[in-house]
Amino acid sequence: MKYDMLLLRFGEFMLKGKNRSRFEKTIINQVRSLLKPYPGASLRKEFGRLYVDLGGESHTELIAVLKRVFGVMSISPVKVTASELDQIVETAVAFMDERECEFKEGTTFKVNVRRVWKEFPSSSHEMNHLVGSPILRKFQQLSVDVRQPDIELRVEIRDQGTYIFNEVIPAVGGFPLGTNGKAMLLLSGGIDSPVAAWSSMRRGLEVECVHFYSYPFTSQRAKEKVIDLARALADHAGTIKLHLVPFTEIQTAFTQLGQDNLIITLMRRSMLRIATKLAEREHALALITGDSLGQVASQTLPSMNVIGRATELPLLRPLVMMDKQEIITLSKQIGTYDISILPYDDCCTLFVPKSPSTNPNLRIVDKIEATMSQLPEWVEQAVEQTETITLHAGETFIVNNQQDEDHEMKEEWF
Ligand code: ATP
Ligand code: MG
Repeated sequence: MKYDMLLLRFGEFMLKGKNRSRFEKTIINQVRSLLKPYPGASLRKEFGRLYVDLGGESHTELIAVLKRVFGVMSISPVKVTASELDQIVETAVAFMDERECEFKEGTTFKVNVRRVWKEFPSSSHEMNHLVGSPILRKFQQLSVDVRQPDIELRVEIRDQGTYIFNEVIPAVGGFPLGTNGKAMLLLSGGIDSPVAAWSSMRRGLEVECVHFYSYPFTSQRAKEKVIDLARALADHAGTIKLHLVPFTEIQTAFTQLGQDNLIITLMRRSMLRIATKLAEREHALALITGDSLGQVASQTLPSMNVIGRATELPLLRPLVMMDKQEIITLSKQIGTYDISILPYDDCCTLFVPKSPSTNPNLRIVDKIEATMSQLPEWVEQAVEQTETITLHAGETFIVNNQQDEDHEMKEEWF
């Protein structure tokens, strides 16, 4: 079917209250940045809704992209015609004609006309009949069911034109990006932290990412992999800032301590200290990690306790109660899984000791850190030597192969 535009609906909370215009502006900005790779498409705002004129761009491709806009509840592809009786009837019949392959014996439908432009001569009720009758005549296999129809043909008569549509595709929902503040996410090359990033963004947090690398212990490729992950996140957020922190010096110092079972605990604490300083610099009010309770030694409750004390900022762990399988499913849906499973060397996986502590002792950890007089200096240096890059939507090379599967899109929102 050749559609003319997409209709984007906001969440209900958008319709009232003093936040409305801020929320709308945020959504419009995100839509704009996601539409950059599609120059034909253009944006129009109306009370409680957004319209994207397709301008020749593929509607399936744009729906796949715009379903990701945080705060958008659903999307409908729309056919536009003039607000004149003949044209409306003709377009509605043509619309159904294109769907005919889906009709079976007993398929039911209903026409739902909304006359928004009150000067249009026929009432909504009259129009339901005027549009419905020729459809019934033409498609003998259809019958009317006003309560639970298989197909609901919606017709909105407006001053500037009439919109005809029937699909309502669920979108990601949540809060518009950044309307709940900003947080700094610790992004590794694994499966979990990108999912934690996306979950936080859906809750209305603007997310900046920080990654620790230990060149030459970790390769250039490992760093590029993390850049690719941040880029995949930018396909949701529009843009993503990624802070790349050199961690070699601190890591080397820890490996020379002879306290192998505490290395991960110590490294994580230093990561949190550096991330806290970056968060303060960037005016972010929380840290986020991809921790999931019990998944590995550093994610037991005692480990989380000792590690988490290294920061005074709220430490958010959106995946803490999720099963690995649920996390994997999400990572596939948001398009980070294929990047995450590429082989890589992380500064933590490289030096994983034989028996990392699942129950570190806070006093011992504090004491070890106190003996390392240069540690605060190294933390400062790491912050100073941090390199920041910005990634944009549409730069990802892994193709979303769901684009043509219209049916899948109806059921899922990501
Ligand atoms: P992930 O899949 O996110 O790597 P994981 O289950 O492999 O998680 P860990 O490797 O123990 O778990 O890491 C726990 C969390 O610590 C990660 O989710 C991430 O937030 C943070 N983290 C670990 N390594 C790094 C790193 N090199 N740079 C930034 N953050 C990191
Ligand atoms: Mg990891």
